[in-house]
Amino acid sequence: MTPDSVTSRFEPVIGLEIHAQLLTDSKIFCGCATSFGAAPNTRVCPVCLGLPGALPVLNRRVVELAMRAGLALGCTIHGRSIFARKNYFYPDLPKGYQISQYEQPLATDGAMTYDTDEGSRTVRITRVHLEEDPGKSMHAGGSRSRHTSLDYNRSGVPLIEIVTEPDLRTPAAAADFFARLRAVLLAIGVNDGNMEEGSLRCDANVSLRPRGASALGVKVEIKNMNSFRFVRRALEHEVVRQEACLEAGEPVVQETRLWDEARGRTESMRSKEEAHDYRYFPEPDLPPVEVSEAWIAEVRASLPELPEARKQRFVRDYELTTAEAGQLSDETPMAEFFERTAKEAGNPKAAAHW
Ligand code: ADP
Ligand code: ZN
Ligand code: MG
Repeated sequence: MTPDSVTSRFEPVIGLEIHAQLLTDSKIFCGCATSFGAAPNTRVCPVCLGLPGALPVLNRRVVELAMRAGLALGCTIHGRSIFARKNYFYPDLPKGYQISQYEQPLATDGAMTYDTDEGSRTVRITRVHLEEDPGKSMHAGGSRSRHTSLDYNRSGVPLIEIVTEPDLRTPAAAADFFARLRAVLLAIGVNDGNMEEGSLRCDANVSLRPRGASALGVKVEIKNMNSFRFVRRALEHEVVRQEACLEAGEPVVQETRLWDEARGRTESMRSKEEAHDYRYFPEPDLPPVEVSEAWIAEVRASLPELPEARKQRFVRDYELTTAEAGQLSDETPMAEFFERTAKEAGNPKAAAHW
């Protein structure tokens, strides 16, 4: 069967967790630069190296950018949110814990609605929370190398994690949603959309259930994909793999898998039994994040027109087809260029085609 086949007995259910780097000059809890490509370990200080006694101080701009994302995604921004420690050991995490939001995130209960070829689609947004990126491990020479190099320049780079409800139903729809979310984050100036440099990454969760069933099946999480194509291909592969399990009467095992693009398949990374117990607890070195109603209103008022609204306006005002409007509205520089050209030419249709 093909992954999008509606003739299958099973329906895919997909939810995404997307990490987006916030466009700040400095890191989330210290003054180190976030610039990409600097020589290893030259953008570090006692705070982002996790040295004993160093204390984090929250970057105000990080909160503002996260609010922009939350508001653009229709979320409620909470006046008070809490940082927590997510405890685990890894060489790229020198503190032994990642500072993240857990039980009380900055933003919750949003939704993104947009037109597709099959009509309007709404994907609910569970939450948008703040966290720091860990450093980067480089296993030079591949898996047989006996050496790992560590670069802490990324350590403490500000991220938002955007979590969706399991509202997507096909691999293609999941990749499409990811692309539209990227367009929104770019339009509001929160993320640079540079997926090759790792500033936008996606974990995809997928399960199958018999068509018509309402209960969710056992899910598999595919970690850390940095292209729309990988998301679609990994999910397609996973849908087929899970269906083969179910058809053979074997249960799907809840686990985390990794997409191997070269081999065109997912591989198990860890099972539910091996899942980390992060022992979250409130971060004692940071006070609650408090944002006033006035600040929220100010950020809301500063949001630009979003790609979906712009697309509908192009269809309405310039009599473009949805396909034309879609192509011209996604990226703000292109959209502005089109509008200027349309006005100067006095012929929007010709300008669009040109
Ligand atoms: P976990 O506790 O494993 O982190 P969550 O309930 O927090 O799981 O959900 C994480 C992501 O997985 C969300 O995007 C959510 O929509 C998605 N998800 C949860 N359950 C399922 C399921 N049964 N099938 C597909 N996706 C799911
Ligand atoms: Zn630092
Ligand atoms: Mg979770």
